[in-house]
Amino acid sequence: QATVTDTYDVVVVGSGAGALSAAIFAADQGMSVLIVEKSDKYGGTSALSGGGIWVPNNHYFKAKGGKDSFEQALTYLKASVGDQVDEKRLLAYLENAPKMMQYLQENTRLNYTVAERYPDYYQHLPGAAPGGRTLDPELFDTTALGDEVENLQPASPTTLLMGKIAWTARHAHKAMARERGWRLLLVWLMLRYKLDFKQRRKTRRDRRAALGNALIASLRASLMDRNVPLWLNTDFRELVQNDEGRVTGLIVKRNGQEQLINVRQGVILGSGGFEQNQALRDKYLPKPTRVEWSATPPGRNTGAALEAGQAIGAATAMLDWAWWAPTISVPKEEKARGVFAERAFPGAIVVNGEGKRFVNEAVGYLEFVDEMYKDNIKTNGKTVPAWVIFDGHFRFNYAMGPLMPSQVMPDSRLPKAWHKTVYWKADSLDALAAEIGVDADGLKYTVERVNRFAASGNDEDFQRGGNVFDRYYGDSNVKPNPCLVQIKKGPFYAMRMDAGDIGTKGGLLTNEQGSVVREDGSAIKGLYAIGNCSASVMGTTYPGAGATLGPAMTFAYIAVNDLAKQK
Ligand code: FAD
Repeated sequence: QATVTDTYDVVVVGSGAGALSAAIFAADQGMSVLIVEKSDKYGGTSALSGGGIWVPNNHYFKAKGGKDSFEQALTYLKASVGDQVDEKRLLAYLENAPKMMQYLQENTRLNYTVAERYPDYYQHLPGAAPGGRTLDPELFDTTALGDEVENLQPASPTTLLMGKIAWTARHAHKAMARERGWRLLLVWLMLRYKLDFKQRRKTRRDRRAALGNALIASLRASLMDRNVPLWLNTDFRELVQNDEGRVTGLIVKRNGQEQLINVRQGVILGSGGFEQNQALRDKYLPKPTRVEWSATPPGRNTGAALEAGQAIGAATAMLDWAWWAPTISVPKEEKARGVFAERAFPGAIVVNGEGKRFVNEAVGYLEFVDEMYKDNIKTNGKTVPAWVIFDGHFRFNYAMGPLMPSQVMPDSRLPKAWHKTVYWKADSLDALAAEIGVDADGLKYTVERVNRFAASGNDEDFQRGGNVFDRYYGDSNVKPNPCLVQIKKGPFYAMRMDAGDIGTKGGLLTNEQGSVVREDGSAIKGLYAIGNCSASVMGTTYPGAGATLGPAMTFAYIAVNDLAKQK
């Protein structure tokens, strides 16, 4: 029997970016609000993310003279999402996303800027923008958090320079694309870190939070300004309804004790998807699928909101979809690493077990894995996993997953355990193919063909490098095509790529107010869902960088405004 502990106007479940934003909006509307988080850290996957937020027609870009419009963004979103999602939800997103960001920028500690050159992912669609829709966090000084910094989900070392130094996405891009001044930038970042003597005496953790960690740290600090309580180690279990079907509370397990928390206005579910639940993956996602391939924190997002919603008759959608991203697993690391950018670097190709390419390696990560699954059916199971292949020239110059360029991290300095688990290496393509069990003739044929494309600059098979998004992560020094270079200088390398994800994409179906709905479309009163526990407003697509956090935070804004109206 659960004991009634408390009553709040609103309870927010989870502590990702959407959930924390919801709590801020609710507090600012004068509601009493509580956040419950299952783990001993707040921030979820959001805290490990790049922190990019996709907001078409935003004020940051306009302030810099950029051009975008509601109509152009709608054209693009409709062309991407099609009729998979009710148009009212698309309109609600486009209307409210810019307002949501402006509100947070003006009223909280959140500090963002526009990534003017980060292109939308589907450049072939009408309304696509070559930049200006993705917003990036500035670094955030975590001194503002005091001791609460200890409870912040630490950033993934893979997103930090040398595993410890904070840098923005714009810095990282400059270094990766080896743009003018990149070496100087790295020296400056390293010096700034080293010369922060006060912090260095205490910890190796950078005083500045970056990317998703900056996003979560700034939201948490803003919640502390508002005295909003956040209960860690509090596991949400069930929803409670009254006779009319309105959600009036929730049951959580805290300190081993079941507790009933009553709500006067509503519950906002923001507890992530089900990517960390193997049974639900097996039930809904395409096969093969493994929890270990996910780049999200182990054990966190296990589908609690989905199951609690289903238990009270909520409709669901797109449960067979994830925010796919190819991943590489590294021994002793608790989660897999997403391979977002490196596939576009010139000189890396990805092949299936027949040694054949099956996709433009530079496409967005969602499409990449979707193509893996499609090809896996065609090849009778030979594309999951796939293999990224590159040569000594690539190895010297570029990173791939955990392998930094050999000019800074030669093979002799790589952990021994990585050989034949993370990377395979041989003096010839034939020998490499034999090591990884890929068809040698197929691989030789593919490499010869790609080398011809590299010389002409024209990828006749997949048009890699054919648009501004592909080229964003290409090497601007490489001509004629910044995404293509010949593969010919031994030794040759292979790395295994799994069909991973950065969270699931399907979940509870919501309407344009963020309310969870039943199969008949009626709203379940007092229940809202945001982020990856809800079925994405982006349908089965990923229109631009930040298209998961943007909707999570925007529907937080919309949901709270709806709650406020009903007060
Ligand atoms: P989360 O942020 O994971 O938050 C869910 C929280 O709920 C967790 O803290 C979890 O512990 C808690 N929880 C789960 N179950 C319960 C329960 N029963 N009771 C209480 N609490 C519970 N997306 C972008 O838009 N832009 C990016 O730049 C970007 N970069 C990424 C980079 C990486 C490396 C990765 C892995 C992902 C990236 N993503 C990005 C994806 C994005 O991080 C996720 O889609 C997003 O964080 C999901 O937000 P969420 O609030 O739904 O879940």
